[in-house]
Amino acid sequence: MNRLDGFKLVYRAANALEAHVIRGLLGQHNIQVHLFGEGLSSGFGELPAEVIEVEIHVPTGYRQLARQLIDEYEAQSSAVDDPASEWICRDCGEKNPLTLGLCWNCQQPGGD
Ligand SMILES: [Zn+2]
Repeated sequence: MNRLDGFKLVYRAANALEAHVIRGLLGQHNIQVHLFGEGLSSGFGELPAEVIEVEIHVPTGYRQLARQLIDEYEAQSSAVDDPASEWICRDCGEKNPLTLGLCWNCQQPGGD
């Protein structure tokens, strides 16, 4: 049996960072997320990981909610693309979009 039964593709992230941001966003709503494509080496030649598309799958029952959250995320992230729309995590130094309350990398709350 396919262990992915019950999971549906809701979004193709342009890169691993975006995929992690969206996984964090959905995780805040208790949506289980499976990522595919991240870290794959065979079949992708010498492409750097950041240009590999990452598929985001969620349980079928959460597909509509996930899609809605991603739409909101996209609307907000496309509306603001200047450096002021990001915050730097004090713990690990990673950049996070303002739309994210917790660091995508270490889950520390951000902002002041
Ligand atoms: Zn962090």
